[in-house]
Amino acid sequence: MSEIYYGTPVARAIRASLEERIAALRGEGREPKLAILRCGDEPGALSYERSALRSCEQAGIRVESIVLPWTAGTAELLRQVDRVNGDQSIHGVLVLRPLPRQIDTQQIFRRLRADKDVDGITVPSLARVFVGRGSGFGPCTAEACLAMLDHYGVPLSGSRVAIIGRSLIVGRPLSMMLCARDATVTLCHSKTRDLPSICRESDILIAAAGCAGLVDERFVHPGQILLDVGVSESFDGKLCGDVAFEAVSPLVRAISPVPRGVGTVTTAILARHVVEAAEELP
Ligand code: NAP
Repeated sequence: MSEIYYGTPVARAIRASLEERIAALRGEGREPKLAILRCGDEPGALSYERSALRSCEQAGIRVESIVLPWTAGTAELLRQVDRVNGDQSIHGVLVLRPLPRQIDTQQIFRRLRADKDVDGITVPSLARVFVGRGSGFGPCTAEACLAMLDHYGVPLSGSRVAIIGRSLIVGRPLSMMLCARDATVTLCHSKTRDLPSICRESDILIAAAGCAGLVDERFVHPGQILLDVGVSESFDGKLCGDVAFEAVSPLVRAISPVPRGVGTVTTAILARHVVEAAEELP
C-alpha cells in the first residue's frame, strides 16, 4: 500500500511556524499584507485567489484584492502595480495569471518591485533561484514541492529526480532548487524522447505538465516517490492531476493527490513569503 502525501499537514506546519514571526511584526506595529492583482474572472486565477485568501486568513495576514476588467490594458495594470509598489502597508504582491492577451506581461513583471514579488515572477527573483544572487522570492509552487519532500523526510542528496515540465514557474526553478540540494535532475518536456523510461529511472518523479493522466503505469516503479503538480479538469468537471491516480498509486512508494496535495502547500509558502517580505522591508 503506498503512502499518500497530503498537503494539509505540510501547509499547517508552515503556517504554525509563522505565528511568532507575525506576532513580533505586530509588536513593531507592522501588519503583514498581501495585494492580489487580477484581471477578469478566469477560473484558474479565481481558484488560486480563493486558496491564497484562505491561507493568508488562516495565517493572520491581511489581503487586498484589486480586480480589473478582462478588457484592461497594460497602462491600467501598470498604474495598479505602481500603486502597490509605493504603498508601504503592502509587503507582498501576487499578479494572478493568465493575464489578458492585450497586456504586455513582461512590462508588468519588469515594473513590479522584486522585494514585493512573493511568487517569483521578476528577473531578480529568478536570478536569486538560478544564480544565488538577487532579491525577491522563488516561485511558490516550486518551493512547495521542496517543502513536501522535506516534510515527508524524502532524502534529496544523490537522488535521481525527473521533472515533467520546464516552465519558469515550476519545472525550471525547481530543477535549480533540487540541484542546490545535490539531487541529480532530469528536466523533461514535450519534446523529450521516451518520456516513460526516463521517468521510470528516477527515485522521485515530479509531474508539472498540465496534461491530465499523462503519467501512467509505464512511468513508475515500486520504490518511487511521485509529486503531482498538474491541475486539470476531468471530463466530468472534477479537478485532476497529471498522474492517472487510480492506476498508478498502488504501484509506487508514495504519491501526492490532486486536489489536497502540492496546491495546498503553494499558498502556505505564499503566506511565508509575505511574512519574510514584511520582515525585510523597512
Ligand atoms: P506550462 O507553462 O504550460 O508548462 C507546461 C510544461 O509541461 C511545458 O514545459 C511543456 O513542454 C510540458 N508538457 C506539456 N505537455 C507535456 C507532455 N505531454 N509531455 C511532456 N511534457 C509536457 O504550465 P505551468 O504553468 O508550468 O503549469 C503546469 C501545471 O501545473 C498546470 O496543470 C498548472 O495548472 C499546474 N500548477 C499547479 C500549481 C499548484 O500550486 N498546484 C501551481 C502552478 C501550476 P514544452 O516546454 O515543450 O511546451
